[in-house]
Amino acid sequence: MVAAIEARQAGARVAIIDKGQIALGTNSALSNATFFGPTRQYSPEKYVKDTLRTGREINREALVRLVAKEAPHAFSLLRSLGLTLVEFQGGYYIKSVRPDLIPGITLVKALAGKIRSVSGIEVLTGVYVTDILKEEGIRGIRGFAKTGEEVLIHAPAVVLATGGAGALYLRSDNQKSMMGQGYYLAAKAGLELWDMEFVQFYPLVMAQPGLPSLLLYPPYPERARVINDAEEDILEKYGIGNPSEAHITKRDTFSAILFQESIKGPLYMDYRMVPASQWKKHPLSLLARIKFDFRKQPFVVAPAAHFFMGGIRIDEGARTSLPGLFSCGEVAWGLHGANRVSGNALTETVVFGKIGGRNAARYALTHRMSQSEPKALLEKSSHGISSSPRTLREFRQRMREMAWRHAGVVRDEKGLREGLAKLGKVEADLKGIAPHTVNERIGKENLMSAAFVLKAVLTASLSRTESRGSFIREDFPRQDDINWRKNSCLKYDWGEGRFSLRYHPIG
Ligand SMILES: Cc1cc2nc3c(=O)[nH]c(=O)nc-3n(C[C@H](O)[C@H](O)[C@H](O)COP(=O)(O)OP(=O)(O)OC[C@H]3O[C@@H](n4cnc5c(N)ncnc54)[C@H](O)[C@@H]3O)c2cc1C
Repeated sequence: MVAAIEARQAGARVAIIDKGQIALGTNSALSNATFFGPTRQYSPEKYVKDTLRTGREINREALVRLVAKEAPHAFSLLRSLGLTLVEFQGGYYIKSVRPDLIPGITLVKALAGKIRSVSGIEVLTGVYVTDILKEEGIRGIRGFAKTGEEVLIHAPAVVLATGGAGALYLRSDNQKSMMGQGYYLAAKAGLELWDMEFVQFYPLVMAQPGLPSLLLYPPYPERARVINDAEEDILEKYGIGNPSEAHITKRDTFSAILFQESIKGPLYMDYRMVPASQWKKHPLSLLARIKFDFRKQPFVVAPAAHFFMGGIRIDEGARTSLPGLFSCGEVAWGLHGANRVSGNALTETVVFGKIGGRNAARYALTHRMSQSEPKALLEKSSHGISSSPRTLREFRQRMREMAWRHAGVVRDEKGLREGLAKLGKVEADLKGIAPHTVNERIGKENLMSAAFVLKAVLTASLSRTESRGSFIREDFPRQDDINWRKNSCLKYDWGEGRFSLRYHPIG
């Protein structure tokens, strides 16, 4: 949405295409609307230092420095939408319009409102993009609508802002459809995928049957405890300290401890001792809408897949290696290195959304489509899909369990090899499925993306024989700076059906 606003302001005709709704269907809508970045109290130098330290020094420093410089402009853009930014040590959070609403909803609604108020931005919802069209440069995209019609959109520039892939895991706090479609689209267009082994897991997400997989938004309330069946206090047992700080400063070890403990038996969040005064305030106020007696009953929690650090390489202009293709947000790679500082994803989306939108517009205005090509922005052909009942639910479940078991919080060589072998079988079975309805086609596309991304995660994880940031190998528990301070780069060979993997020095 930020890229669209910027591209329109730069004079281009713009279309936003989304398989769901443009605002509420995103992960941005689920966010805590916290933006990490320089403020009056927190210097750009400190931002750079903390981002590199959390990323275990394999971030692309040029991007980190760029975000340090550009973040104030990103924050100004948010203020210009009427949003209230409240400063904290290390950034801003957006004040939610209502205490019982997830703050991200306030954020995306403000952006969607702006989109509606600007003429010249066409919004196409319910269009699932399956291909980026290219010849020498970008030609547009192809996809299909909910009606089953094929959709072709001709454009000299495309900004890929498709988010991450957290939902390919059994436990995830993402929107259910976040299956890594953008990584798959990019790889089909011939792009490489970088540092795909780095997946961030959030330590505390609801895992109680019947409750949504909702992240427990920080700050954690006073006197909240994480306990097991024996009522042992897990945070105390491992000296985690204040969980609100731990989820920022040691999110990886915090998640790993909870993951290992939850293999022994369920873990519960216990709010029974939380003072009454806290229930009306954020974040506990968010629980008011859920039918469960949180004040009286502990509920099961577990770590869950949260964010993908890896993705598509972009330069400081949000350009990918394909002329005319730009990228921003979670699908793009480079800022975070081996782990992400809490709040740095949203700062990234706005900074690179602005840059990508502006540069895509400039590119489009100087690389117009030739006259022989259709003038209409949107073309539909009517290859409707005939409907017949069929379910892909079983495949989805198998894939998500496999991801959790073999590419989860803690990995090892045996598990990764087993995961790759099992995935090969699932992929082969999946290819044999012929969808009969639009929903089945969506389901199959989602699973093809998920299988592809999981293969990337498993392949890159198997080769990295160390532990770094969010990436924890039980068989190689130490960070090895002599051999592994480098970035992985996967390229898919579509003829051979496999990835080749190279490493690049940091930079
Ligand atoms: C619960 C939760 C809380 C979070 N809180 C914070 C926070 O407070 N601060 C922070 O910095 N980060 C936070 N994060 C991370 C952050 O929210 C995300 O990284 C960020 O929102 C990603 O933004 P994006 O624009 O890249 O993608 P998204 O906001 O996820 O949007 C991607 C869009 O692309 C569409 N799309 C994908 N594939 C296709 C396709 N093939 N065809 C058509 N459309 C497609 C999707 O439908 C979706 O609408 C949080 C994440 C979660 C899950």
